[in-house]
Amino acid sequence: MTPTLISTEETKTAQARPAAIPAVVEIKQKVKQDLRMGREYQQGRINWVTTIAMGLFHVGAIAALFFFSWTNLAAFAIMYFLAINVGIGVAYHRLLTHRGYRTPKWVEYFVTMCGCLALEGGPIFWVATHRVHHQNSDNEGDPHTPHDGTWWAHAGWILSGRAMHSETALLGRYAPDLTRDPVHVWLSKYHYVPLVASGVLQIIIGAALAGPGHYVIGALGMLLWGTFLRVTLGLHATWLVNSATHLWGKRRFETKDDSRNNWWVALLTGGEGWHNNHHAHPVSARHGLAWYEFDINYYCIWLLSKLGLAEKVQIAKFDKNNPKPAGI
Ligand SMILES: [Zn+2]
Ligand SMILES: [Zn+2]
Repeated sequence: MTPTLISTEETKTAQARPAAIPAVVEIKQKVKQDLRMGREYQQGRINWVTTIAMGLFHVGAIAALFFFSWTNLAAFAIMYFLAINVGIGVAYHRLLTHRGYRTPKWVEYFVTMCGCLALEGGPIFWVATHRVHHQNSDNEGDPHTPHDGTWWAHAGWILSGRAMHSETALLGRYAPDLTRDPVHVWLSKYHYVPLVASGVLQIIIGAALAGPGHYVIGALGMLLWGTFLRVTLGLHATWLVNSATHLWGKRRFETKDDSRNNWWVALLTGGEGWHNNHHAHPVSARHGLAWYEFDINYYCIWLLSKLGLAEKVQIAKFDKNNPKPAGI
């Protein structure tokens, strides 16, 4: 069932009114308003829960620098790859949002769990927000366009506004495919569970590897590198796709938005920085369209397909001499 934004109370009010048609128009306008996610619709509020959590993760990230070890660096690299490459790029973005390929359900759920490790909200929140971004890119209602300010596009939109993570019914209008699936609904509600579980695992492994007398330092060091520093840098890498790749880089395709191909954001995110390619061909599972446009996230999808775990992989075809966005 497609969720609706209209509460029972509002429906009753609408029914009680003699002039039904204006009431319906009013509700329709409210629905439209609620789905507008740009800066002017956030009423300048600050989401304190998110802001305090982000502050704590940044403090933890700085603290991590005093606990360097090669083991902790390895924990950082493994967790970053799982959360940002597999979780955000391969799962949330290319599979769940744009359906650029298909996988068996158990693979879809596993990679989605990896996405939860990035602390970017559950799949329904992420997918709905990103679909709104593609619908209104750099126009009114875009949740994070640099037209509303560079800081707003980077992190301001996360720190301000409504706590939409739990508004599943509202967001569900943009992700009905996910709201029909109880596993995605559960993961959206309890998106922090995989992160907490992985943190506990890091504490245990860190303590075990450190050995007697160094349990606390070992556990704390691995947690700070595998979770706090890793989450913080992963967030900024993802946010750069919203800020930097709508500001700086080359435009291969004349898309209606300001998206750009930015090599250093692509490096940090495993290929998500080829953002102009992506806005031109949103369904393509491959974002790096030239041989030199490295796209680690696509290589992961390619590997999945070779293992028989991914099919119907969509790959954009374009004429280098006459590049045109899809649908033109
Ligand atoms: Zn974009
Ligand atoms: Zn996208």
